[in-house]
Amino acid sequence: MSLSVSRSLSLAVSIVALAFAGSAPARPAKAPPIPVVKVPVIQEDTLKTVTRVLSSDAFEGRGPGTPGEDKSIAYIIQRFKDAGLQPGNNGSWLQDVPIVEITARNSSGLAVNAGGQVLRFNDGADFVAASYRVVDHTGLKDAPLVFVGYGINAPELGWNDYAGLDMKGKIAVILVNDPDYANETEEGLFKGRRMTYYGRWTYKFEEAARQGAAGALVIHDTFPAAYGWQVVNSSWTGAQTYVARAGGAMDQTAANGWVQKGVAEAIFKASGHDLSALTAAAGQKGFKAVPLGATASLSFDNAIRRSTSHNVIGIQPGRKRPGEYVLYTAHWDHLGRCTPDNSGDDICNGAIDNATGVGALVALAEANVKTGAADRSQVFLAVTLEESGLLGSEWYARNPVYPLARTVGGVNMDGVGPGSPSRDVQVTGGDKSELTRYLAAAMRAMKLYQTPEDHAERGHYYRSDHFSMAKQGVPMFAVGRGSDWVRGGKAAGEAAADDYVQHRYHQPSDQYDPTWDWSGAVQEVQLYYRLGRMLAMTTDWPNWHKTDEFRAVRDASLAEAGKK
Ligand SMILES: [Zn+2]
Repeated sequence: MSLSVSRSLSLAVSIVALAFAGSAPARPAKAPPIPVVKVPVIQEDTLKTVTRVLSSDAFEGRGPGTPGEDKSIAYIIQRFKDAGLQPGNNGSWLQDVPIVEITARNSSGLAVNAGGQVLRFNDGADFVAASYRVVDHTGLKDAPLVFVGYGINAPELGWNDYAGLDMKGKIAVILVNDPDYANETEEGLFKGRRMTYYGRWTYKFEEAARQGAAGALVIHDTFPAAYGWQVVNSSWTGAQTYVARAGGAMDQTAANGWVQKGVAEAIFKASGHDLSALTAAAGQKGFKAVPLGATASLSFDNAIRRSTSHNVIGIQPGRKRPGEYVLYTAHWDHLGRCTPDNSGDDICNGAIDNATGVGALVALAEANVKTGAADRSQVFLAVTLEESGLLGSEWYARNPVYPLARTVGGVNMDGVGPGSPSRDVQVTGGDKSELTRYLAAAMRAMKLYQTPEDHAERGHYYRSDHFSMAKQGVPMFAVGRGSDWVRGGKAAGEAAADDYVQHRYHQPSDQYDPTWDWSGAVQEVQLYYRLGRMLAMTTDWPNWHKTDEFRAVRDASLAEAGKK
């Protein structure tokens, strides 16, 4: 789980997606009324048992491709069967997820020829780089450097930093975050202090590849990046894991990476430019990219390792419109064996992250089977490799068992923490789509109020599995229990979240505790049941709001599916 700390211990994220059913009529002018949903009893024992079993030492922290994986998927399949689901992938409970691991070695270091001098920078200390392409060797020689500002191409906002540029054979030098990140409020073309996807480093490399660049280097700066260089250095050193892509990912740049801010300043200065002046210019609409008049060379070898992990998938077929789908997801994987703590314990058990989410997934399946089939089909998907970059959900979104243009709704659960029920809910990502109407109905029914998202500037919406579906256009919504706990108020909720983040997040100490209070988690699963079941019973097709960054890809996928 990416660390989206909602102030309560429940770091749950609910995802609601919508799509068109195969034969569904065009969307009615007026949205149909929201179905009334009666919530059955949510089995607290299911939440407890699934969490206890999956986070036990026997499962060794559920590392993908390890014996822990075999045990985890076998257990989840058994629980899906016991819940009354049917195999969700053409008679199978599994979807293979082919992955490639690429480890860079023998780096040449980065050499920059600028203003008649050669500047040399060291791997790790000054820059990091990796290849997304599945090739044995990566080499860029004397590639021209082009400063492209924030490297954004946002047609819906009339913004294109690559306008008129031919990036073939060149390296894009890119600022992190988006042009108005420094705003105090969420006002601004790029939603001010709230990070948009255009601000995420993953977007920068995707857009540079779309522009045909030979390489892309993001300039690290702690405040706009929202983390220090050590995070960049540690996560970019060693094996990098990707889902297998057609053609060995040759559509990607030859090399992506980051440079320290001081390194960028030295390169700009040596080539007669001023980074801070150009950064200011890059924040203005109409900014024109600047060829730096410098070139860079870099090379390294790649050790390639291929393997396969698995998504687990079950389905409850719909009664009236079985060709329309609600999608519930939770990642089953965790870190496996990790850095031992002082006691020598090296198993990152991942109880909160995310055995609880899988527990919620099973409890939702049980509850829906007990209620009986909904009008639409409901798909329960336990994805792998979330901790390696949302890879299992990315693979599903690129290779959906059920077409995304027919996928109606869904709930993603990542960290459904124990503790008290709360009076509030928190929405990650803000009001992005017409799904908000459904959340409002659920909040009314549960007498809950909404609190603003903590740390909107950190882009947490883009760091959990729902995002993989959103990127392919499926409208996604994220909500979790807030910090205003019924028992103990905000103080208790915030204290619990801080304790988790500081003492257990991604550590061996994220372990099951038999004394945990599950009433808050039950409340959260009741919320997800309502959201999913409402979508499974409506004929509505909520979409992203017109100005949202994912609206265009959704409309395109619906048009392609001939539904629009
Ligand atoms: Zn997680």
